[in-house]
Amino acid sequence: MSSPPVADFISREERFGARNYEPLGVVLSRGEGVFVWDTQGNRYLDCLSAYSAVNQGHCHPKILAAMVEQAGRLTLTSRAFHNDQLALFYEEIAELTGSHKVLPMNSGAEAVESAIKSVRKWGYEVKGVPDGQAEIIVCANNFHGRTLGIVGFSTDAATREHFGPFAPGFKIIPFGDLAALKDAITPNTVAFLVEPIQGEAGVIIPPAGYFTGVRELCTAHDVMLILDEIQTGLGRTGKLLAEQHEGIEADVTLLGKALSGGFYPVSAVLSNNEVLGTLKPGQHGSTFGGNPLACAVARAALRVLVEEGMIENAAVQGERFLKGLRSIRANTVRDVCGRGLMLAVELNPEAGRARRYCEALQTEGILAKDTHEHTIRFAPPLVITSDQVDWALERIAAALTQDFA
Ligand SMILES: *Cc1c(COP(=O)(O)O)cnc(C)c1O
Repeated sequence: MSSPPVADFISREERFGARNYEPLGVVLSRGEGVFVWDTQGNRYLDCLSAYSAVNQGHCHPKILAAMVEQAGRLTLTSRAFHNDQLALFYEEIAELTGSHKVLPMNSGAEAVESAIKSVRKWGYEVKGVPDGQAEIIVCANNFHGRTLGIVGFSTDAATREHFGPFAPGFKIIPFGDLAALKDAITPNTVAFLVEPIQGEAGVIIPPAGYFTGVRELCTAHDVMLILDEIQTGLGRTGKLLAEQHEGIEADVTLLGKALSGGFYPVSAVLSNNEVLGTLKPGQHGSTFGGNPLACAVARAALRVLVEEGMIENAAVQGERFLKGLRSIRANTVRDVCGRGLMLAVELNPEAGRARRYCEALQTEGILAKDTHEHTIRFAPPLVITSDQVDWALERIAAALTQDFA
């Protein structure tokens, strides 16, 4: 089987497409489990998993079957009518996560926006904040998506620059700093929006006990705790939700990415009765949100995650992967961190940009993504085996000890 040269695809993308990404020079055409193949037939171990959207592995056969079956029956009704998948999706995800109410959306950013709208409404109608005064606290180095509302409270220059003016109502505090949260809360604070582990910032794990303290502060001041589990959720860290590591429960939980196993954009806001209970007919919506195809795919994606033991596997393989990364002796490595299969290697600044190590990894048969210049993230699908972890570690060690001088 012959295929046009890689450069052909890339040059066309560059000619016709907006250049808002800087992909590695690999053109993928097929995926199965932890592996993807390029147009030339080379196989790679996927250590990005589409930013944790394919936790269940590429093209999982059971999710595929659910998608094909549903696509041939009914795909979209809009919410003007009921469909026979939405109720089942609600019930199954609510039971699995212990949530009371569910709001289905499409992208992660939409789930974040929907949560912001809902907690503001809750603030005005339940907490009694004067109209237009609601404040939401967020963390420095956050990543919650790319819509205007969200990039307005980003602290990353590239994310914000020349996209303003932005909406007011957000206060930024350092991540992992309880005293800062305490100081930032006012009678008008309606919510604290935070990632359990900051993913795009380079897998930043807060100090032990931080979230217990966060939970206490939020409860004491009647502030809704919104955990953005779009990346950390659905098994990535070795638990269904990362909040379980801390033994706490958010008031609002955001899911996306792996909610569809990578087949289709599906996101959800999960909350207690009060927050989503404020939304009345006509006040919020989405044409595709809660469509039967999305619901059927999400139901299958959740089912295989649990039934096939992927969450437990993430815990076991994550530990193996972390131990292996820590044992790599290379002076390029400054630090290694991770929880479950959400791992990162921070390189010494003298080692140069992380991107060239990702290019070296590509030659070794591993696809990984740099973040913030000096960090490489490793987040393979949760179906990875011990042998595959060991193989990956050998390749990673080889790439990190390579001499670029
Ligand atoms: C990816 C991500 C989002 C945004 O999801 P999109 O589907 O890209 O809009 C929000 N929050 C976190 C933590 C994410 O990792």
